[in-house]
Amino acid sequence: MEDLDAANHDRVIIVGAGPVGLVAALRLVRAGIPVVVLEAAGEPHAEPRASTFHPPTVDLLDELGLGERLVALGRPARTWQYGMFETGERAVFDLGVLANETNHPYRLQCEQLHLVKEAAKMLDAELPGALLFNAKALRVRQDEDGVTVDAEIDGEKTTLHGRWLIGADGASSVVRKGLGLGFEGETYPTVSISIGTPFAFEEHIADLCGVNYFWANGWSFSMFHTKDMWRVGYSPSPDMDDAAALADDEIQGRLARIVPNGGPFEIITARLYSVHRRLVEKMRVGRILLAGDAAHLNSPSGGFGMNGGVHDAFNLTDKLIKVWGGGEDALLDLYARQRHHAASADIQKTSDANHKRHREKDHGRRLETLKGMQATINDKKAVHKFLRESSLMDSLERANALA
Ligand SMILES: Cc1cc2nc3c(=O)[nH]c(=O)nc-3n(C[C@H](O)[C@H](O)[C@H](O)COP(=O)(O)OP(=O)(O)OC[C@H]3O[C@@H](n4cnc5c(N)ncnc54)[C@H](O)[C@@H]3O)c2cc1C
Repeated sequence: MEDLDAANHDRVIIVGAGPVGLVAALRLVRAGIPVVVLEAAGEPHAEPRASTFHPPTVDLLDELGLGERLVALGRPARTWQYGMFETGERAVFDLGVLANETNHPYRLQCEQLHLVKEAAKMLDAELPGALLFNAKALRVRQDEDGVTVDAEIDGEKTTLHGRWLIGADGASSVVRKGLGLGFEGETYPTVSISIGTPFAFEEHIADLCGVNYFWANGWSFSMFHTKDMWRVGYSPSPDMDDAAALADDEIQGRLARIVPNGGPFEIITARLYSVHRRLVEKMRVGRILLAGDAAHLNSPSGGFGMNGGVHDAFNLTDKLIKVWGGGEDALLDLYARQRHHAASADIQKTSDANHKRHREKDHGRRLETLKGMQATINDKKAVHKFLRESSLMDSLERANALA
């Protein structure tokens, strides 16, 4: 194996150019720290994944000049709701109550691909050559002075060196696996499906918000309105195999349960995915730090995975910038403690509760939950607290305050 850059030691290597790796890269570069980002894919992943950016995340992204760009590419949803689809009973949450605490009092609905593309463009402009596509990390090693990555770049095996390494390489992280760390948790028994369609549901259903969770007869579904499409999510029948769940007839039938006679619906995207709840045992091993999905997975219910990962990236780079400048290396242990706590105490717990609530089948329990939400909305203090929690504002502050 050829060692192409034995001399190029003084930098941070980031594995993975998803939202987390790129946000971390931009922050480091802005602080004058050289980075190289290895991305296995040939271009940013196009499949629809995250669409919800919570207020504190957009506030953080403002610092990088990304917040307003994403607002322009997305659709802010100031209100979001839970509802009984057939009867119209509903509980509507208004993020306007947080207007004094955030510059973005809404759930921004914007495809995560936009964040990846915009951040990649900025990185390329600010440090040309730092972002390498078709660059797959195969193995990572470390010693007291630095880190070494064996990689395959454009089909050629090579070795890269750096002072620190951030593993932001997603759920199947090679970095996490290479460290031999446990990734305990569970995979939920049912898969979920995300459909993207430009169909104008808002012209057919009264009182839609930008974000909607509906309980309907025999099923439940969510509807999110991005700039380009409605994203409709649900769990297919458990007795259906993947091909049947993705068959056009089946998808058309599901959408026709939302708007009868609305079809045929144009389908931009249909993606089946498994849902996991897992947490790495620790987020730092020596000179290697884990962040985002590489470290923790949760149900997308509530929109926390990417948001929590971006919060990891900010927390980690705050500390790494100080350590790079001569600060105490123990700061990186603090990163690992703070963000591990956020993932376990807040993000996983809340997303698990959301996941189960969305899939509640019993009408009585659905009604009871809905009444509880309506009572929360009618109580100024309670709704303020609920919205801070459900937008990860409190989680972010609690983690940052942890000693
Ligand atoms: C349907 C769906 C909806 C979702 N909705 C939301 C939402 O609304 N809000 C929210 O906050 N979260 C949501 N999530 C979760 C969110 O998509 C993830 O949490 C987010 O993508 C994590 O970002 P990341 O950068 O950590 O990892 P990824 O986005 O997975 O990026 C990792 C990158 O690393 C690359 N890579 C992997 N292995 C290697 C290697 N060996 N070498 C080099 N590169 C490598 C990959 O190609 C990839 O580009 C959703 C997820 C799904 C599936």
